[in-house]
Amino acid sequence: MFSLDGKVALVTGGSRGIGRAICVALAKAGAKVVINYAGNEAAAAETLDLVRQAGSDGEIARFDVADADAVDQAIQDIAKRNEGLHILVNNAGISLDQLLIRIKPEELERTMAVNVGGALWCSKAAIRLMMRKRYGRVINLSSVVGEGGNKGQAVYAASKAGIIGLTKTLAKEYASRGVTVNCVTPGFIETDMTTALPESVKEQAIAETPLGRMGAPEDVAAAVLFLASDEAGFITGHTLRVNGGMLI
Ligand code: NAP
Repeated sequence: MFSLDGKVALVTGGSRGIGRAICVALAKAGAKVVINYAGNEAAAAETLDLVRQAGSDGEIARFDVADADAVDQAIQDIAKRNEGLHILVNNAGISLDQLLIRIKPEELERTMAVNVGGALWCSKAAIRLMMRKRYGRVINLSSVVGEGGNKGQAVYAASKAGIIGLTKTLAKEYASRGVTVNCVTPGFIETDMTTALPESVKEQAIAETPLGRMGAPEDVAAAVLFLASDEAGFITGHTLRVNGGMLI
């Protein structure tokens, strides 16, 4: 439907879950996909196979998105090797869920460093390159809980609300340079992040979702593909909900 022929895309946390589905969707549309991951090399290699099966080419790049220097070096190398970087999907994320009264300082620091810091450092390195070419698409993964909150997820929700503020700010800063910045807020999606949850929590989440099911990673990937396309060129600073009606 959308063509990304000739485009190079970097997907952080592309080894598993939603990130993997995004890699495949972008590859099916013709983009060359760089799959970032933190530690799970086998999963990243599996995603690369899927990207190739989808008819495109790709490569794997291991770095911690929370490490500003490593991010800067990796993104410069990626752009040099591939003669550019057109699309950045800030998908890597973690959730260390606790009730407020049990949260430890290191849980706050690591969640913010990965979820907010990761998107910020990757955007900084990528947008610096994109603005020179006067073209870029940045898509950030926020969450329904960043908009609506959720018991037991104070730190995660704060980090995902932060992503919405970051998105709107970067959209304003770089619109004049041809770079659009949008975010997607998924609802309850079936991945490693959610399979670990107790059955009762999943049942409750489905009960709160008018469309009556958990989302698939592909549901989110379709929205990201649209925002990455040329057709979405007049959309920036937007928050696109992919939540089955959980929050309207
Ligand atoms: P997931 O299955 O837990 O996968 C997380 C991915 O992020 C993995 O590829 C992991 O790499 C990577 N990652 C984690 N820390 C990293 C770091 N420091 N540097 C680089 N990569 C890192 O997560 P998911 O459910 O697909 O979620 C993807 C995104 O969507 C996250 O931002 C999440 O907050 C958001 N989201 C998810 C849901 C949901 O219901 N699942 C709902 C709303 C929003 P390794 O494989 O190497 O560990």
